[in-house]
Amino acid sequence: MNDNALHSDPLTTSRTSAAAAAAGAAPVPCPTVDTLDRILPEEPLLMMGAGPVPIPDAVAKANTVVINHLGDTMARVIQQVKTMARYVFQTRSNWVLGVAGPGSAAMEMAISNLAWPGTRVLSIVNGFFSQRMAEMAGRVGAEVTTLDVANREIASLEAVAQAIERTRPAVVTIVHGETSNTVWNRELKEIVQIAKAAGALVVVDAVCTLSTMPLEMDAWGIDVVITGGQKGLSSIPGVSLIAFSDAAWERVRTRTVPNTHWCLDAMLAENFWHNAGYHYTAPVSGVLALHEALRLVCTETLEKRFARHQRCSLALQSGVTALGLALYTPQTCRLNSVVGIELPEGATARAVCNHISQQYQVEIAGSFGLPIVRIGQMGEQCREHNLFRTVHALGRTMSDLGVKVDLPAGVAALEESLSAGSREARR
Ligand SMILES: *Cc1c(COP(=O)(O)O)cnc(C)c1O
Repeated sequence: MNDNALHSDPLTTSRTSAAAAAAGAAPVPCPTVDTLDRILPEEPLLMMGAGPVPIPDAVAKANTVVINHLGDTMARVIQQVKTMARYVFQTRSNWVLGVAGPGSAAMEMAISNLAWPGTRVLSIVNGFFSQRMAEMAGRVGAEVTTLDVANREIASLEAVAQAIERTRPAVVTIVHGETSNTVWNRELKEIVQIAKAAGALVVVDAVCTLSTMPLEMDAWGIDVVITGGQKGLSSIPGVSLIAFSDAAWERVRTRTVPNTHWCLDAMLAENFWHNAGYHYTAPVSGVLALHEALRLVCTETLEKRFARHQRCSLALQSGVTALGLALYTPQTCRLNSVVGIELPEGATARAVCNHISQQYQVEIAGSFGLPIVRIGQMGEQCREHNLFRTVHALGRTMSDLGVKVDLPAGVAALEESLSAGSREARR
């Protein structure tokens, strides 16, 4: 008889379940596992998918450091992170905060602080991530209406105006760049204007686009901007940023219904991000990494960074097209931060992604069941040497899988576009 058997109910415990319970009570044996260098690929993969993206050395180095999360050093780091984030978001708002968690946690922070049971939310849905905001709003009990936009299209201003007129939302959610189907909501500024004129607060998901293309929080009148670390900013995944306008902060501050998400409660988070007080232990290493990522953005400047992204993405698009492959999204709403490529007859996303990873050590992405593969153009992905390696690997992969492509033409088009772009930049 062991302890477990003694404690089990004598009326319901059969012989067999007693034996199982006895096995369950045995100590868990110490496992033997592989060391990481046996699990990780021998040659590091070039991360050209839809995030996470490669990180610069300064970011990697900062990510190895642990400091006191409430000390003076941390307070200085936080101060600088907020100052740099204001530049990247193009906002003078005081209400900039970090979030321990993925881009989705920042998203949930925005939604759960601004919406509660009964709040009318209009979600403009044109893909996987914009749908996620609608889902989150529903979960906090909001009355959610979605404006469903056809795949590879953007919401028309008339449709947005009508939906706002019909639903009178307190909060409108929209994604700047829909990473899933590579659509750019290029009329974001005008949509924000329409929503603001109707008195709504506008939440913008800029996870994939922030620091890769223009987004001006204050000038465009956006109330909440969220972003993750592992995309445009080229930091590590798991530490994110959010900024609230004064109007949004006022709604958060004066709400009477408590936020059910304790970790994501913006008023509690403010204690750490603005008063150097305790909320939860911040991911100090990740915040240091984010500091370095933001510092590199500031060193480069947004203007130059946007130009680098545009030049690299257009060159990649031209290289891919010259290979003989088709881009997924029409040019009128094509996102540059992530490039979607149609799968040719007979190729599957899984086969392409596995092959290019295993044979050429380049990682690219499929997309939630869409017939495409995606190549990211965010942060460190936008470097010439990475583009040559990626176009080469993609062309070879297609050939290996029996798809006819013109690899020399692809590489030549890439080179032509890059050198035309740099002549342009020098002029
Ligand atoms: C990646 C992404 C997200 C989700 O970010 P996670 O860090 O995976 O939670 C949300 N929105 C957009 C537009 C994205 O590209």
